[in-house]
Amino acid sequence: MNIFVLTGAGLSVESGLDTFRDKDGLWSRFDPMKLATPGAFASNPDEVHAFYNMRRKNLLSAEPNAAHCALAHLQAGLAGHGSLFLVTQNIDDLHERAGSERVIHMHGELLKARCTGCAAATPWFEDLSVSNPCPNCDHTGTL
Ligand SMILES: [Zn+2]
Repeated sequence: MNIFVLTGAGLSVESGLDTFRDKDGLWSRFDPMKLATPGAFASNPDEVHAFYNMRRKNLLSAEPNAAHCALAHLQAGLAGHGSLFLVTQNIDDLHERAGSERVIHMHGELLKARCTGCAAATPWFEDLSVSNPCPNCDHTGTL
């Protein structure tokens, strides 16, 4: 048996991470046009970095919940009999920490920084600013 699963922000609410479009979601408190577009990053990278630094801190204190664990358990149980193809809209790593493998992140990953200069993606767990050089090409202001 092969199973396809698509998850979204609602799955991580029980872990303490906010959704985006719910009544109390992130976009009710923050303007996505000022934080989640290439133009926003180009015009105010400090504000964009501050938003993602806040979210990265929240993620690092979160833990996978029962839903993340159930999907990981299902994937492991299918080994040898089929597969579970897991795609998530979430940028958190809670599926991986629960034990899921080969997770496809449609919208990127909060714990990786991508360089706009060389396109390298680097694991990133700290605050990020325009003064951090890219570990791959050494340019600053591109992560
Ligand atoms: Zn680079």
